[in-house]
Order: sequence, then structure tokens, then C-alpha cells
Amino acid sequence: MAQDYDVVVAGGSIAGLAFAAEAARRGARVLVAEEHDEIGEPEKCDGLVSLRGLRRYGYPPEQSVIQNEIGTALIHSPSGRQVAVDATALDVVVLDRSAYDKQVAKAASSNGAEIMTGTRVTNSVEKGTEVEVKMGGAEVRSRYFVDATGPSSSLRRGILPAAKYEIEGDWIRQHVVEVFMDAERYPGFFAWVIPYGKHLAKVGAAGRGVNPFKALDGFLAGRHHKILRKVSAPIYVGGPAQRFVIGRRILVGESAGQVKPTTAGGIMTSIAGAVIAAKWTCVSLGEGKPGLLANYQPEWEAAFLKETKSMMRLRGVLEKLSNADMEALLTALATPKLVQKLSHSDFDFHASAVLGALGLPGLLRVAKVVASAEVRSLLVDG
Ligand SMILES: Cc1cc2nc3c(=O)[nH]c(=O)nc-3n(C[C@H](O)[C@H](O)[C@H](O)COP(=O)(O)OP(=O)(O)OC[C@H]3O[C@@H](n4cnc5c(N)ncnc54)[C@H](O)[C@@H]3O)c2cc1C
Repeated sequence: MAQDYDVVVAGGSIAGLAFAAEAARRGARVLVAEEHDEIGEPEKCDGLVSLRGLRRYGYPPEQSVIQNEIGTALIHSPSGRQVAVDATALDVVVLDRSAYDKQVAKAASSNGAEIMTGTRVTNSVEKGTEVEVKMGGAEVRSRYFVDATGPSSSLRRGILPAAKYEIEGDWIRQHVVEVFMDAERYPGFFAWVIPYGKHLAKVGAAGRGVNPFKALDGFLAGRHHKILRKVSAPIYVGGPAQRFVIGRRILVGESAGQVKPTTAGGIMTSIAGAVIAAKWTCVSLGEGKPGLLANYQPEWEAAFLKETKSMMRLRGVLEKLSNADMEALLTALATPKLVQKLSHSDFDFHASAVLGALGLPGLLRVAKVVASAEVRSLLVDG
């Protein structure tokens, strides 16, 4: 039997759920269809976020969802040189992502949104002023359709294979996030250690054209550990989609490419996209003017496009560096002044923070070390 909703959302992860919570709060009739049987499962994300960012968009985690607080970020060069950034002022925490999704799902339900788990959306067709959505053998009609299905949907470019394990190991430092750079082992990305408890960490590796499990096993060789869980999930680093709205179809979260191209972190930027999209969807519904949806993309871009472009340029530089370049860069750049500036920056705007802290003299030092077109573009635009 056909049912009527203002919005049907495909995908019940953080973007779809934040959209539903926000749109339902504003009075829209919302249905979320999630293909998995349980919200938040299977969990793939590491949950490293800045509380500042989540507060900014109205969805701070409950205390019980926070697994750990981060005090230091430690960057390792290929030869083992270390740069430590004091992160105590950055409000960075590790979330239990599954529990956080459940928290936002609860908010969406209490605001009146319907959530159907175990329901896969198989098709959506725009017909006049409606969208017909096929899901779980039924057909549902809605005024708008939200694609919150994550990286599997429209953006194929920019996807890197990644492997992640949850491990136990006595070498893990509880409040220290570690990043390991190595252009040969993790080309275009890095390996990471995100502690989420005493001697517990989410560790991962990703890179262009590598077998991430092999890379991660190589990283862990010689580091005593017990694997508690293994996850294979792609990460997205390709930048925002060209268009967030196509007719009555609205992209939010990772399906709109609302992810940081440097670290593939997308929780905050996806929630931001969802909250802004929900606002303009409800304004459009209220005024009966679908054209008002066009305000969503510029509002997200006003907040994030400059930063995302800087991140894309840093990524371009990173992808070109050899291990020798990386060593030279870390030596040239890891000045106490820069490290001090980074420790008082904004975690979600780290590209601007790095470029701002470098200034022109720092960028010229970079250009001396790495003579690439990407570095020249940093000099011109940064
Ligand atoms: C290994 C890994 C580690 C990460 N670590 C971090 C981190 O530490 N910090 C951070 O900020 N970000 C991190 N991210 C990124 C972050 O997880 C994503 O950016 C974020 O989850 C995007 O949310 P989303 O709702 O847009 O998409 P997703 O979380 O990908 O969710 C999409 C949802 O849609 C559902 N779905 C798909 N197709 C259909 C369909 N046809 N019908 C119904 N449902 C469907 C899926 O089951 C899923 O629930 C990580 C990602 C990975 C892979």
C-alpha cells in the first residue's frame, strides 16, 4: 500500500539519522530506511571527532558514548622521527560510533521520524511533484528523497581501500593518537592508532593501490597485539560532489562527498550537511517551493568549501611525496612555533591551520623541498 511522507531517507547512519532528527524536529513526516537490521551495526568508523564540531551542529554525544579523550597527536615520519602536537585544547574524543548512531536515531524517533531497519531501498523515481521509492518489496511516495547511503552510492572516484582492526596491546598509549607516514607502505594515506581505552585501540591502514590488510599486518608485526575485531571498509577522500540536489533528490553525508580529503573524517561534516539540508527541505516544504532547496549547497560550501579545497591541495602534495621528501619536510616544518600554533587550532579546519601557521616563509621552505605543481598552487592560493 502506498504511504505518504514528506521525505524518505535511504540510509540510517549518521547523515541520514541527523537529517531525520532535524527534519522531524521541524515538523516534516520522515521515513528512514536502513538496510541493516540494527542501527550502528556493523560499525566501521573509528569515531575520532572534535566535540566543538558536533556541538556547532546541535548533536553533541552523550557522555556514555565517549570512549576516550585525546591529549596528544603524534606524527611519525617513515624513518621514525616524531612530531608531537598537544591536543588538549582541541576537544578531540573517540566515540563509540554504534552507540552514537543509536543516540541520534533515538532523537529522530522522539521527534516523530519513522525508522525501518532491515529495509533496503532499491529504486527511486521522480514523478511530477513526488518521488516513488521502492524498498523492501513495497513502494512509498514522498515529496523529497534523501540519499544518505554513504560511499557506495554516487561517488566512486576518491575511494581508497582501508583495513581496520580493534586490538588490545600493552604499547598503546591511552590518550595519544598516532599517525604513521610512509609513501611506500601507505601511498597517499597513512596508518593510524586511535586509542579507545586502556591498552585498546582502533588501528588501520589505507593507501592507493595497496592491499590494506597486508599493510596493516605489516604495521602490527613486531607490535604485540591481540585482534578483537576486523573491519574492511573503503574510505573516501575525493572531495564534495558537484551537486548536492538533483530535482527532488538530496544527497547528504558521504554520498555528497562531505568528508575531509586529508583524513577521511566525515562525522562532523556529514552531520553539518544533514542539518543544513533538513533546514532547507523543511523551508521548501513549508513554502511549497522546491527551488529553495538550492540554498543547501551554498550554505554547506560557505562553511567548508575553502577548507576542503585546502585539504585537497595538501592531499595532492602528500600523494606526490617520496619518503625522502617526507623526512625533509618534517625536518623543515616541525618548528616549535608551528607545533604550538597547531595545538591551539581547530581540529576540523586543520588544513587552514597548517597553511596559516606556515605562512609564506613556511610555504617557501616547503617549495624548496618539494618542487611540485601542488606546492606551487599552495603558494598561489594558500
Ligand atoms: C575505517 C573507517 C574509519 C573512519 N574513521 C572516522 C573517524 O575516526 N572520524 C570521522 O569523522 N570519520 C571517520 N570515518 C568516516 C565516517 O565513518 C563517515 O564519513 C560517516 O559515517 C559518513 O556517514 P554517512 O551517514 O554519510 O554514511 P555511512 O556511515 O557510510 O552510512 C550509509 C548507510 O546507508 C546504508 N545503506 C546503503 N545503501 C542502502 C540502501 N540502498 N538502502 C538502505 N540503506 C542503505 C548503510 O547500511 C549505512 O548504514 C571513517 C570511515 C571508515 C571507513
